[in-house]
Amino acid sequence: MKPSLIIHGGAWNIPAEAKPDCRAGIQKALEIGWTILSRGGSAMDAVEETIVALEDDATFDAGIGSHLNLDGHVQLDAVLMDGGTLKAGSVAAVEHVRNPVRLARRVLEHSKHVMLVAGGAEKFAAENGIPLITNDELILERERTAWKKCLADEHAAEHHVGHESGTVGAVAMDSHGNLVAGTSTGGTCCKYPGRVGDSPLIGCGCYADAESGGVSCTGHGEGIMKIVMAKMAADLLHDERIFPAHRDKSGTPSVAAAVADACVRKLAHRVHTTGGLILLDREGQPAAAFNTPAMAYGYVEADGSFKIAP
Ligand code: ASP
Repeated sequence: MKPSLIIHGGAWNIPAEAKPDCRAGIQKALEIGWTILSRGGSAMDAVEETIVALEDDATFDAGIGSHLNLDGHVQLDAVLMDGGTLKAGSVAAVEHVRNPVRLARRVLEHSKHVMLVAGGAEKFAAENGIPLITNDELILERERTAWKKCLADEHAAEHHVGHESGTVGAVAMDSHGNLVAGTSTGGTCCKYPGRVGDSPLIGCGCYADAESGGVSCTGHGEGIMKIVMAKMAADLLHDERIFPAHRDKSGTPSVAAAVADACVRKLAHRVHTTGGLILLDREGQPAAAFNTPAMAYGYVEADGSFKIAP
């Protein structure tokens, strides 16, 4: 089978000065994931390593450089889901792990549970070979300054100097047809300590089912959770006959694009929320949609070239 990969770095009003960093981060992460997939590697490895690259890139609100919560700490959430087995591994509100997506994979592969949070997730990390770090190692001065301004005023793009948002995610299909999706985030700026959004919740910020497709979402978690957006997308992909073929600019029919559009329309109309999603249908056809002015995302075209936005 031909592998496929789509990734994102958040949907928001990305200002012109932030676009080059977003594009460079997406390009680098796509290269890492695509190298794995094109050499016959697994979708699980491709999604994990792509998300690690995005977590390590301070441009995005995941891993190092994430927004601070009300207490001035970084609290991270991540999930991985395997579309073949429907197994998932998820962690939330972790403060001492550099790459929460690696911990999510350990939960998927080595725990009998689906989701671990806070201290329990970190205990599991230490027991499973993931080094614990100080929370300070995840905090950038840029974010501390923004946090102080947001506390005194309110969360605003101008306080974050081009880094207002930036949850990350990836969906991959490998040459054996395995489908995996993942999402990782620092969550929303100044969130209440312990607040968990959609990102690490299966069905909300991420879903994968080889019989329908794989999905990763971004946007205001409190809205996305209410409409269970990732599972909605997967269900619509499964029932593709209810969607007329949707023609993209090249004239190729794409049910995937129609489904992605329908989900962000529902997000806007039903819960008045902004955001976006990426997906691969069960054949590996990519699609992205957002109701924000822009989304950082990229995918590999049929000829192997990269399509990158914004
Ligand atoms: N969905 C994330 C959350 O609510 C934030 C985002 O995607 O921008 O935590």
